[in-house]
Amino acid sequence: MSLLIKKFGGTSVGDINKIKKIAQQIIESREIGHDIVIVVSAMGDSTDNLSELAKSISKNPSKRDFDMLLSTGEQVTIALLSIALNEFGVPAISMTGSQVGIITESVHGKARILDIKTERIKDYINQGFVVIVAGFQGAYLSHNGSMEITTLGRGGSDTSAVALATALYAESCEIYTDVCGVLTTDPRIVKNAKLLERISCEEMLELASVGASVLHPRAVEIARNYGTKLYVKSSEKEQPGTLLESEIEPLKLNRGGLELTKTVNSLEILQNQVVIALSNLPDQPGIAAEIFEKLSQAKINVDLIIQATHEETRNDITFTVAEENLQEAIKQCDLIIDELGGTYSFTQNMSKLSIQGAGIMGRPSVSAELFETLSQANINVHLIATSEIKVSCVIDIRDINKAIRFVSDKFKLNSNQIYMNPSKKIRKEEPEVRGIALDKNQVQVSFRNLPDKPGVAASICLSLAESNLIFDTIVQSERSSKVNKKDISLTMSKEDRNNADETFASILKKLPGSRIEDGPSIAKVSAVGSGMAFKVGTAGKIFRALANQKINIEMIATSEIRTSCIVLEKDCDIAVKAIHDFFELDK
Ligand code: ADP
Ligand code: ASP
Ligand code: MG
Repeated sequence: MSLLIKKFGGTSVGDINKIKKIAQQIIESREIGHDIVIVVSAMGDSTDNLSELAKSISKNPSKRDFDMLLSTGEQVTIALLSIALNEFGVPAISMTGSQVGIITESVHGKARILDIKTERIKDYINQGFVVIVAGFQGAYLSHNGSMEITTLGRGGSDTSAVALATALYAESCEIYTDVCGVLTTDPRIVKNAKLLERISCEEMLELASVGASVLHPRAVEIARNYGTKLYVKSSEKEQPGTLLESEIEPLKLNRGGLELTKTVNSLEILQNQVVIALSNLPDQPGIAAEIFEKLSQAKINVDLIIQATHEETRNDITFTVAEENLQEAIKQCDLIIDELGGTYSFTQNMSKLSIQGAGIMGRPSVSAELFETLSQANINVHLIATSEIKVSCVIDIRDINKAIRFVSDKFKLNSNQIYMNPSKKIRKEEPEVRGIALDKNQVQVSFRNLPDKPGVAASICLSLAESNLIFDTIVQSERSSKVNKKDISLTMSKEDRNNADETFASILKKLPGSRIEDGPSIAKVSAVGSGMAFKVGTAGKIFRALANQKINIEMIATSEIRTSCIVLEKDCDIAVKAIHDFFELDK
């Protein structure tokens, strides 16, 4: 008999009637002949409510107590669903994370799953029970031998479900939710968002890590790594939903380190790159669109694009092109400067070094380790671009051999995993924008006036990683107005920012003269698509969509299959709609 794991999210188990309805649905699947393990979330908003209760007593409750509290939400649902199934005459058993044997790291709040002891659950399955597991939680054995409850991070029930499906070698894992699958964007923002029947794990990882809450990024990561078949479906209607597709050779289950698989799978080098920096541009809507449309019309393939935050009313935009495009790019830059004012400069003999894998930004230590490794090799990093599947650094071409040696050593990559100037195979069927995600829960933080020397980015990222603070969209810019000084901006969740004061203080102490600047209320709008890597001009179109709505872009960061724009919070919904319309994603 085939084993299915079905996960029902908070809204799908929001009241007693919904719980009874789900019980009926489970009975139907069972009658078809499947063995079934159910994973459930807490009912409706109950996790938020529990969190508010704690915050009404203390701004900073202990993480252990907080996990103790939040984990009770799921415990209510497993008991009620089990009561419902038993009432309908179907043998069911409810189990908490620790009863199942979901063993996590010994950290609270964002613990990763190390192992799932499957004996007990298999025993129940063999006896004909429907097993109902509390999502979002696990446990670890403390040094004095007691079991401590942990949670996996908000939205983590998806991860519980995919991890269970993987550990039990289930036929598939189905995530049931309040929408019909993964859509081109959040239907709460764009009503005519369209269902995606399939999406690659890479694209979903990028979308999930920048706000597409329909799947927890770590759930996608597990499915990708182990080849676990994963669907997202509607809990309301029986429909095929969305299938996630993994393009990698599945790994063997890593018992004892289920979520600790190797994050970095390859190293890629692009030689002969030129960094072009446009400085002192007007900071107003339409500037980025104007620039990248010009470059695109001239058929120049722009790789990284970085627009950092600015202290004054002028703006800097930096991008990279291949050396062969330099003459044409200079021609276009002359035209741009004539029209918009400002200046530009270019630096030849640059290379882009990228590490690739999955879950890179979800593990802040990975990018920190990359920057630290380069700094140990005394290599200065000129530009940085980060995303969930790739971190890139632009360095001098003369440092490249040393960088390859150090980085491949650090991430244990063999020569088959190192790609020099890989040619891009054009896959026509891949859309340049598959979906758009919005993350409103972000703040922007800038480190100003940093010394421009190797190791600065490493030191900041390492300190954040040590405190388990997750950051994204790290943008480093060399300020034209200040010699030997640079700024580093990044975005992080509001929650992590609230917990970061101490870490920030310790960072500044190590970097005399520097300071922290908290930005305005912002939102991150990200377009993701595998085809973006192969098409000229996608970024220009995204910027044009925003310019048409008179939306100013505060920060830009691109990666291979993702372009993120930081906009003011008030503009964010319009921004998502504008990009969705521009690329006709409803068609
Ligand atoms: P659950 O409680 O079932 O885990 P979530 O609220 O965590 O549900 O996730 C489902 C929600 O994710 C949807 O209601 C939708 O508003 C939001 N969402 C954001 N981006 C997307 C997307 N690209 N496709 C589908 N839903 C999305
Ligand atoms: N109940 C938890 C939350 O609200 C976990 C989940 O729903 O996935 O974040
Ligand atoms: Mg969810």
